[in-house]
Amino acid sequence: MKFDDLKLSDPILRSLKDQDYKEPTPIQAEVIPAILNKSDIMAAAQTGTGKTAAFVLPTLSILSNPKNNYKGHQLRALILTPTRELAAQVRESVNTYSKYLSIRSTAVYGGARIHNQKLKLKKGVDVLVATPGRLLDLYNQKSVNFKNIEILVLDEADQMLDMGFIHDIKKIASLLPERRQNLMFTATFSNSFRSLAKEMADKAIEVSVTSDNETGENIEHYVHPVDKSRKAELLIELIETQNWDQALVFTRTKHGADRLQKQLDRVEIKSQAIHGNKTQNNRMKALDAFKNNRIKILVATDVAARGIDIKKMSQVINFDVPTVAKDYIHRIGRTGRAGDKGKAITLVSADEFRLLRDIEKLLNQKLERIEIEGFEPEHVIPLKEKPPKKKFNNKAGFRKRKRSRKG
Ligand code: AMP
Repeated sequence: MKFDDLKLSDPILRSLKDQDYKEPTPIQAEVIPAILNKSDIMAAAQTGTGKTAAFVLPTLSILSNPKNNYKGHQLRALILTPTRELAAQVRESVNTYSKYLSIRSTAVYGGARIHNQKLKLKKGVDVLVATPGRLLDLYNQKSVNFKNIEILVLDEADQMLDMGFIHDIKKIASLLPERRQNLMFTATFSNSFRSLAKEMADKAIEVSVTSDNETGENIEHYVHPVDKSRKAELLIELIETQNWDQALVFTRTKHGADRLQKQLDRVEIKSQAIHGNKTQNNRMKALDAFKNNRIKILVATDVAARGIDIKKMSQVINFDVPTVAKDYIHRIGRTGRAGDKGKAITLVSADEFRLLRDIEKLLNQKLERIEIEGFEPEHVIPLKEKPPKKKFNNKAGFRKRKRSRKG
């Protein structure tokens, strides 16, 4: 299929030529005609599948028919995203694809000055990208008017639900015109997503595209058992011996991200950390430094990293095993893009065994444990969980092994 077959308007096709996109990705080929047909849709697609263009292109095409009575503070399309980074990134896509259209757009999110955002909204915009909390603040201060909204997009809806935005989303939806088009994008069709989708648009067309990432075909998984206290040392060893150009490293906590970043600093490995406690400006700068190759390692927490577009990552490292198995899939979605082979490397300490087992269940795949010489753990990770014995079972569920290090 070609973009020309999709009935997008000419100015949009021109912007795609500038981007050198040869053909629509599978999710784009599926949803663009349905959206242009004015259907509600719910689509499962991960970051990296081209999902942003899948909703931005037809939205712009619909909006390129000018409306009369266009007044201040009004909007025509509203795109909700879970994080500031994703909001800024989606806005960038809107800009890119609307280059040859006279479409006004802006993004509003927390952590940036509300005053400037109010000024931008004053004249009204065609497309507003927003995080739910800041949008409601602006609404309460009468800086946005939802009366003319034609299209509502939820991007990464499952993450918004995970982050507790359910009430904000429902509140926002209740303020919008009932006659509108609903485009709901999610990484996974979780139960909570399905029930929200049903409430928002019970006749939405369901689209699900399995990417290579999801099937894991182009991703090699490596699990390195290591004692918790030696994880940073092992990571540094891997960075120094494996010839990685760059790597995205995930930690479970903000504090853990900062601590690891300092440890890398001490051995002069250039890195930055992004997490919820960093200012918006800091996060953008770190991301920019990583994208432009000025730093080698980006340390991130799950929330800070989801949805951000980092191209062609050859490896993703799980410094901590994610506590929610689904996050493993989100994390490794950053590697092995566009048919490249990617590596998902996970450092696992004995106390994380159960989390690893949950991931294996989700992937329906046993991940091979590879011990790195010199880092063999004292606390061994069991191959599979032992059935629970009597009451006084070993608390941590692992047995101690004699240290048998070479040399
Ligand atoms: P997304 O899944 O929206 O995060 O997009 C991932 C990346 O794919 C972005 O950098 C887009 O610029 C790029 N992209 C989107 N659509 C296409 C396409 N049809 N052909 C090539 N690249 C694309």
